[in-house]
Amino acid sequence: MRLQDKVILITGSGSGIGKATALLFGREGATVIVNDLDSSKGQETSDEIVKAGGKSTFIQADVTNPESVKQMVDAIIAQYERIDVLFNNAGISGVGALHEVEPETWSRVMNVNINGVYLPSKYVLPHMMDRRSGSIINMSSCIAEIGLAVRASYAATKGAVLALTKQMQVDYAPYNIRVNALLPGTILTPFVENYLRTSYDNPEEAFESLKKRQLSGDLGRPDDVAKAALFLASDESQFMMGSPLYIDGGVVFGKNA
Ligand code: NAP
Repeated sequence: MRLQDKVILITGSGSGIGKATALLFGREGATVIVNDLDSSKGQETSDEIVKAGGKSTFIQADVTNPESVKQMVDAIIAQYERIDVLFNNAGISGVGALHEVEPETWSRVMNVNINGVYLPSKYVLPHMMDRRSGSIINMSSCIAEIGLAVRASYAATKGAVLALTKQMQVDYAPYNIRVNALLPGTILTPFVENYLRTSYDNPEEAFESLKKRQLSGDLGRPDDVAKAALFLASDESQFMMGSPLYIDGGVVFGKNA
């Protein structure tokens, strides 16, 4: 029970890494507020937590919509009086080299992946500042550190999230709020399955070549990232501030191997 009695909001937790993290946090004693754009997937995650004996509520909200995010945060505070941990996980992919990306796609990826960190943080932070306590986990990616073919818009957002994490840490350290980033490598989730399906003529061949990119020789699984998020959410990581945490099967540091 490493998260006993903590109230935790996880954005985009109806699927993939967010869902795996919500289920793990539920098992570790947290009250998990599941958020997603998609009501049926979000409700399903929340129901699974409760069925397993945990505590959870689902709130539908679009992380790019200020009013929707504010209402979600207000509802959590009204019911639970605090948010101990915010995990800014929601994100979307963007495929294409820079010259191939249409302005609408560019703006949409910026909006979800950057505003989706800015808005929940903006409305949660004042409550954490009042209590002088909190942990914020921002979802970056190892793409913030290395180039990866045809992902210009996505890489730009994840680099921005890493920079924002460090900036937030400087501003909120005086309030005893920790802000750290997760940098996963390629993790097998619906997000990556969709990328493989839509970007390659032969998705199975692409999957095999993706696996070779990791020193581990395989892709990560959502639980690999969930366990790292658990560490950052818990008090065990109290001396980690503004840190990038890699969960990447060695892809960043093994790139020249
Ligand atoms: P996923 O399975 O697609 O899950 C992302 C979830 O976020 C989906 O349920 C999605 O809902 C939700 N979402 C999207 N836009 C939203 C919005 N505006 N408001 C609220 N929720 C929204 O993806 P994942 O692979 O678990 O990725 C989770 C995070 O990890 C993302 O930030 C991603 O960039 C990051 N990441 C993933 C990998 C990887 O290899 N998988 C690697 C590094 C970083 P809908 O399905 O309804 O859109």
